[in-house]
Amino acid sequence: MVTVDTDTVRLSEEQRLVQRSVQQICDDFGADYWREKDVEGEYPQEFVDVLSEEGWMGALVPEEYGGAAMTTKEVVVMMDEIAASGGGFSAAQAIHGGIYNTPPIVNYGSEEMKSELLPKVARGEVSIQSFALTEPNAGSDSTSIETFAKKDGDEYVLNGQKIWTSRVDATDYIVVVARTTPKSEVEKRTRGISMFLVDKEDAFDQGGLETSAIPKTASGCVHSYEMWFKDLRIPGGNLIGEEGEGFYQVLDGLNEERLVIAAECVGLGEAAIERGVEYATEREVFGESIGSNQAVQHPLAEAYAHVQAAKQMTFDGAEAVEDAESQEVGARANMAKYLASEAAFEAADAAVQTHGGFGIATEYDVERYLREARLTRLVPITQQLILNYLGETVLGMPRSY
Ligand SMILES: Cc1cc2nc3c(=O)[nH]c(=O)nc-3n(C[C@H](O)[C@H](O)[C@H](O)COP(=O)(O)OP(=O)(O)OC[C@H]3O[C@@H](n4cnc5c(N)ncnc54)[C@H](O)[C@@H]3O)c2cc1C
Repeated sequence: MVTVDTDTVRLSEEQRLVQRSVQQICDDFGADYWREKDVEGEYPQEFVDVLSEEGWMGALVPEEYGGAAMTTKEVVVMMDEIAASGGGFSAAQAIHGGIYNTPPIVNYGSEEMKSELLPKVARGEVSIQSFALTEPNAGSDSTSIETFAKKDGDEYVLNGQKIWTSRVDATDYIVVVARTTPKSEVEKRTRGISMFLVDKEDAFDQGGLETSAIPKTASGCVHSYEMWFKDLRIPGGNLIGEEGEGFYQVLDGLNEERLVIAAECVGLGEAAIERGVEYATEREVFGESIGSNQAVQHPLAEAYAHVQAAKQMTFDGAEAVEDAESQEVGARANMAKYLASEAAFEAADAAVQTHGGFGIATEYDVERYLREARLTRLVPITQQLILNYLGETVLGMPRSY
């Protein structure tokens, strides 16, 4: 298969090195590995162990704490490569939280928290894989969270329910977003929210945390949980940043992370097209390769053009992070994520159709890619909410909510 070389997205020598190094790791985890993990519903610990041992979990940890201090563009290259290797969105998501839960600690954590935790994260000894914001009554409308952390002397007491918190089985710490002032008592709904670092083992030991995995149909190897906090005592030192300012801390860095999610979708689309083209070339029906029929060829070619367009938008957006204004980065990141999800879905759907009946057989992987691509239209934010952002913040139209 002829692929557009990533030269078209202009990689520097350092970015190319990231790509080659990640590719080498991924080569040891082929399609069979990811298929089995999805079918068995098993977290890809072996894959994560290799990345941890080689320091990739410290991608966003500053050098002074032993991390790799990678740029957004480098992480974009890394995650695109992981997903495109055949691991898909799930492979990238297996480590996504571990990388993206460090910036709040780097940017807002106390010096004590940073020097205690970050070097261990960079060495792969400790993981901060989970981020708990969503609740049964607060998904898209995240300022409506009700989980409450009440100050009690030097500690906080946490009560409430979270839903969809991912990788709780694979983490040492959970970043929990909770109200410290009820929504009814703040003059602006984005205020009165705080961010805490919860030690999972301590929470279980105290009997202050209960979890239950949510059965689901996509991303079988990355588990998501419902969690209940009951009078969980958190040391005051585990408050991340300033009390009441947590929502702004959540927003900080969100655009950069969104570009990385877009790259994960791009990689998924690339993997799906590769499998579709492979099958279209090999499979013969009526005595000729099915790929010679334009009805088979064109959907793959069209999806390819859309995936590459999303890739350009994503990689250019990541390049712009360094010097563009946050408003511009926000527009680019949201467009990239929107386009990349749609392109990944189109690519996976074309790959399934190309496979005929085998499109839904697990052994060809494309049905897994389709399930994952569908998921990318829902998380970490739905496509509609991205369009709301573009319509209101970028195009300046009125807000309905
Ligand atoms: C596999 C998976 C993993 C996840 N991992 C995490 C995690 O680790 N941590 C975490 O905190 N959360 C996580 N989430 C939660 C995820 O972020 C939410 O599901 C997502 O933000 C949508 O919220 P919701 O499901 O409550 O949908 P709702 O907010 O209930 O929305 C339902 C539908 O209504 C639409 N809608 C609502 N309001 C509007 C509006 N004003 N305009 C247009 N359309 C609207 C939405 O787009 C959506 O289609 C995960 C979810 C999944 C499925």
